[in-house]
Amino acid sequence: MTSTRWLAEYAWLPEQAEPTADVLIETVNDRITGVTPLTPAGRPDAGVDVLVDAVRLPGLTLPGLANAHSHAFHRALRGRTHAGRGDFWSWRDQMYAVAARLDPDSYLALARAVYAEMALAGITCVGEFHYLHHGPGGTRYADPNAMGAALVEAAAHAGIRLTLLDACYLTASVDGQPLTGPQLRFGDGDALRWAERVEEFSPEGGHARVGAAIHSVRAVPADQLATVAAWADHRDAPLHVHLSEQPAENDACRAVHGRTPTRLLAEHGVLRRSTTAVHATHPTSADVGLLSESRSGVCLCPTTERDLADGIGPARRMADAGIPLSLGSDSHAVIDPFEEARAVELDERLRTRRRGHFAPAELLTAASQAGHAALGWTDAGRIAVGDRADLVTVRLDSVRTAGVRAAGVWFAASAADVAQVVVDGRVLVRDGRHLTVDVPQELSAAIAEVTPR
Ligand SMILES: [Zn+2]
Repeated sequence: MTSTRWLAEYAWLPEQAEPTADVLIETVNDRITGVTPLTPAGRPDAGVDVLVDAVRLPGLTLPGLANAHSHAFHRALRGRTHAGRGDFWSWRDQMYAVAARLDPDSYLALARAVYAEMALAGITCVGEFHYLHHGPGGTRYADPNAMGAALVEAAAHAGIRLTLLDACYLTASVDGQPLTGPQLRFGDGDALRWAERVEEFSPEGGHARVGAAIHSVRAVPADQLATVAAWADHRDAPLHVHLSEQPAENDACRAVHGRTPTRLLAEHGVLRRSTTAVHATHPTSADVGLLSESRSGVCLCPTTERDLADGIGPARRMADAGIPLSLGSDSHAVIDPFEEARAVELDERLRTRRRGHFAPAELLTAASQAGHAALGWTDAGRIAVGDRADLVTVRLDSVRTAGVRAAGVWFAASAADVAQVVVDGRVLVRDGRHLTVDVPQELSAAIAEVTPR
């Protein structure tokens, strides 16, 4: 049994608009067992005996942050496509070229480095939206879940938890064009065969769980949506789906089905409390109503949406409709939960030319508890007794954060200001360094393996 007492200079506790000063956090193994804001008499400078053995956490300690939407291999494209012209669709061709080069070994090496980069940024749990299942041409590996197993192992090496959102990906377009070229690796043939493959996969280690995903209405025919939803129900698993990232998806869906992607999903039983719609950049007002009524969540990926020129989703309107918002770094143009969170507020400012749409505590919830919940980890994302012992400590004395009020970190800090990360009670990052992975070196090596010279 490992029992630790942490003394946070500031900690952001649940339901609090601002951080609380001088908080004693007690953990036993992977759980938080005590959270005690200290009175002035109990502060460390008062020399109270009880605190002699406590580990000091200077700065602001946050709960573990969740990255609810990731495609790990997209990290290999960072800085290689961003100066170019084009749009989402031309970027996608470059992404496919990287996908074509990956196998289970190279994907393990790349994902391990990417997940370790996430750990450095304060991310303690990732939702990997996984569709690169098969070998070249769509041939199955001897273990048909070899690529998923590589991702599970990568997360274990990097020290973070993972929900493998195994994506059903069957067609190339809303009107049912077959997969071709690099897309063949994504396909299982039909939703039943997808379900059979996923059903066989039970990841080792308590750090991982399996969820379901519908790649999009482009990739799963309407008559097969219910099969994926039924598998998620049967397993009580989260279900994620890319939704209305592009106006072209809405137009194609209306042309083929006479309804928006959101309505199509609703009519086939895909929307429910455990569903997360990823992006929801271009929903109609009726779509927002359907997401709200069904108690679905939405995962915003602002840095990717801006990078791919997708547009700005109606974040405040969706939050006002009661839709829980989570955050994802998606294509990993950057991996920085602070940048992701402040973009939710700042994008709304650009649209409305007014400030002050999201309270700092709402940004924290999106980056922590809501993200964990969207990934099926309902016991994480809060500094509260009974929750998992995930603690992310942000420096308040860096060149970016010096002089900042603790609640202001969402507008001042970057991933580089994360000093220490504890996941399930174990220190994973100390003094801004990952304890087991040389992250820059491993990223360079893994990306060199899978990108053209
Ligand atoms: Zn995505």
